[in-house]
Amino acid sequence: MRMFLKLNSLRKPSVHVKAPGVLALRWRLQRCCFCSSPQNESSNISVLRHLTSKIKATGPISVAEYMKEVLANPVSGYYVRNDMLGADGDFITSPEISQIFGELLGIWCVSEWMAAGKPKHFQLVEFGPGRGSLVTDILRVFSQLGALLQSTNLSVHLVEVSPRLSQVQAQNLTGEDSQSARDENEPAYRRGTTATGLPVSWYRRIEDVPAFVSLSKPGFSLYLAHEFFDALPIHKFQRTERGWREVMVDIDPDMADRLRFVLIPAPTLASSTLIQADEQRTHVEVCPEGGVIIQKLTNRIAEYGGAALIADYGHDGTKTDTFRGFRGHKLHDPLEAPGTADLTADVDFSYLRRMAGTGVACLGPITQRHFLHNMGISIRLQVLLQNCPNAFTQRHLLQGFDMLTSPKKMGERFKFLALLNHQRLSSPVADTKSGKKPPAPLPVAGFSELGPLQGRN
Ligand code: SAH
Repeated sequence: MRMFLKLNSLRKPSVHVKAPGVLALRWRLQRCCFCSSPQNESSNISVLRHLTSKIKATGPISVAEYMKEVLANPVSGYYVRNDMLGADGDFITSPEISQIFGELLGIWCVSEWMAAGKPKHFQLVEFGPGRGSLVTDILRVFSQLGALLQSTNLSVHLVEVSPRLSQVQAQNLTGEDSQSARDENEPAYRRGTTATGLPVSWYRRIEDVPAFVSLSKPGFSLYLAHEFFDALPIHKFQRTERGWREVMVDIDPDMADRLRFVLIPAPTLASSTLIQADEQRTHVEVCPEGGVIIQKLTNRIAEYGGAALIADYGHDGTKTDTFRGFRGHKLHDPLEAPGTADLTADVDFSYLRRMAGTGVACLGPITQRHFLHNMGISIRLQVLLQNCPNAFTQRHLLQGFDMLTSPKKMGERFKFLALLNHQRLSSPVADTKSGKKPPAPLPVAGFSELGPLQGRN
């Protein structure tokens, strides 16, 4: 699409990009900067106690249940009580590394909104917004394109499980202009208004996000999920001579305060239902919660239009054992000191596509490197460099570009998947009276190569 930002504005660098060797793992490692505080050691003990009493009462728990308890327990969950984003916190993900990332996703959103015929009501929905940097950069793009979106009824909807992070997001997006809901049964647990007057709402689950503005006003929604699906609970399975068996978490019989993985001898409901009949691997991880969210997104997009863009590190149904923890800048045994380390597993994009089924059109997964190059990242970088006299910021921009796109860093490991309403890719029916051939649908930005004219003005 012939649209490129004339933006000169530079976001204040929020992270210091260090030596490439260290950076290779930093997007995950940085989340653990608070791990060794006494407060965390004591919460760690309470998480461990909670898990061991649960296991004593009901037997070994699935890895999915373990992950859910450790990350999202409403009282002690790693994400829920998370204070890693302190004043000097340097939580690193692509939107934190470079403003260009969010700006290009902003362009993607505008491009999809235009391809849908510029619907009057436009909901921007983000899952797991972290500290809100991605949505902030996207909204800056929207406001720079003010004339285009001027008469649009735009609203922002954030799905966030962490009260702590929702406060950080609220501060960054709305300053002081947000309030918690008085009634905890309200679908949105917090509401606010951005400096440019856009309404922002926070929810715990996708079900709470409005699917449309009102029965008479259809809403067009764009759903974004960056490094969200990798944090959702996975089940782990091992192929055995007697068929698939589930790997679970148990108390180590030799050390009562330690956990260990065990293979359950009999099939479980999960091992009988979640494995594909033609599965070739010997070890498989499945994320049913991610599958359910994809199905809900699919139903919404099929019924009301819109699109979803999912970006994460992952594979296409080829990897096996990827469950791991990160703490203190190192890989961490995921069963050790639960609650003090981030837990994650690579996203299986082939599973997400399968869960989307035929209800939507799927594009990708395409590598981050290709997606960002197709979106014109090099041109955007040049514009920013030309408008930036400061050598430190220039270096920061170049390092960020390298980190996001280099195949050895985030360029290959991270992938983009889009879910689109089928109409988006189908050619309109020819006008039988005039005999005029309808125009072909616009290409979906990021998923095909940038043409020679694109990105120029
Ligand atoms: N998207 C951000 C942050 C990624 S970290 C970025 O790329 O910088 C994962 C985010 O998902 C955090 O905001 C975390 O609190 C949130 N999260 C994790 N599990 C969640 C769940 N089950 N429901 C909603 N949000 C969740």
